Amino acid sequence: MKHTLLAGIALSLWSCQAQEQPIDLKISNVTVIDIQNDQLIPSQTVLISQDQILDVVDTDETNVKAIQEVDGTGLFIMPGLWDNHVHFGGAEYVDENEQLLPLYLSMGVTSVRDAAGDISMDVLQWRDEIKEGERIGPHIYTSGPKLEGKGSIWPGDLEIASEEELKVALDSLEKLQVDFIKITDNALEPTLFLEAVKQASARGWSVSAHIPSALDLMDLAESGLTTIEHLGYITRIEGENEAETIENLKQLRDLGTGIVPTLLISDNIAYWEPGKFESDTILQYLGPKLKESYTWRIDRLKNDTEEARENRQRNFEKVTTFLPLIQQSGMKIYAGTDAGYLNSYDYPGLAIHLELQKMVEFGLSPQEALTASVIHGPDYFGLNEFGAVAKGKKADLILLRANPLEQIQNTQQLEMVIFEGKVFDRQQLNQMQQEIKTWVSNKEKAINAAKE
Ligand SMILES: [Zn+2]
Repeated sequence: MKHTLLAGIALSLWSCQAQEQPIDLKISNVTVIDIQNDQLIPSQTVLISQDQILDVVDTDETNVKAIQEVDGTGLFIMPGLWDNHVHFGGAEYVDENEQLLPLYLSMGVTSVRDAAGDISMDVLQWRDEIKEGERIGPHIYTSGPKLEGKGSIWPGDLEIASEEELKVALDSLEKLQVDFIKITDNALEPTLFLEAVKQASARGWSVSAHIPSALDLMDLAESGLTTIEHLGYITRIEGENEAETIENLKQLRDLGTGIVPTLLISDNIAYWEPGKFESDTILQYLGPKLKESYTWRIDRLKNDTEEARENRQRNFEKVTTFLPLIQQSGMKIYAGTDAGYLNSYDYPGLAIHLELQKMVEFGLSPQEALTASVIHGPDYFGLNEFGAVAKGKKADLILLRANPLEQIQNTQQLEMVIFEGKVFDRQQLNQMQQEIKTWVSNKEKAINAAKE
């Protein structure tokens, strides 16, 4: 509430005394990407004060003075990217996770939704430090520890076996002020799973989940499930034909349930072959332990028979045919990647760019893919100060050298990141990345020296 009130004051001060004092930041002659309406607005000037967009006006209609001025000629401006499914984790290498924060930002990701791991207390602390401007990184929205049954395979879970324990767990998540609730089905008893969705939703959280085979998707949706994580779960509501499938999907849409397809990680696994990722230069920016965590899954894939490999690919291809049907049904799609530890070659920061490309490859338009990242992302948390380059919105922005509505790959033509009104130009972004690379290389050297 406090933020909204301050924002209101800043806006009214702006309208009364516009010409008297220079504003903080002005980006002139830039092309605004209006994602919602799938259009470009050329020759705009974006006026920013602190962390907020004061106004967006035609360039030849303003001569407002600013402390910092950016020439946006030839550049395209849009909201910073949201990766709506990442993981921070790996209790033995918290330091490597910490390095991911500037990495995300340096790649144009200004918000991430952390879908649980085993270092929740660190993540919560980073979230708050970033909010206070004490640490460089994207805004973090985190589930904190996820809900599971007793004896879950994942470390860091809140394990529950009764309604009483569910209540205690939700109370503790409330104390931690987590941003949403994540529930998975490794060891959680199905009726308690359903109850957990109901109660978490009743307490006002968005609820995200893997889907247990014993539960009906519609029952979960009726209980308040906000997102199904991973596309594979959706195949179970396939109809006799496409029209029927779309009708089934519409029922989920009407109940307010959306989906985070996480195509990239599935693609990485489906088409993995020896040597495929080893020369990726982004590996130089990821810590050694985090990279080591990629191997558990690869070790399993290595032993796959030819038949298993073909099945993997066929399954993935089948699952991706649902993506355009989901879009047609009007069900909300969120762009998220599963990037982070354990998820092989799903690179934090780069992943969301590749995920958007996968979305387009499998049937969405670039506009629909971008909507899934920067508009639906904040929607999930009921935040309306994001999602557009417009008056009153947050100054979390990226400037690109080419238009991503035309070619989705152009999100990678990153020239500048603005986070909470603070500018990081290309040179500063390179510097941030260089520092991460040096940090990684030093840690690798130290590990190797200890081995000798
Ligand atoms: Zn995940």
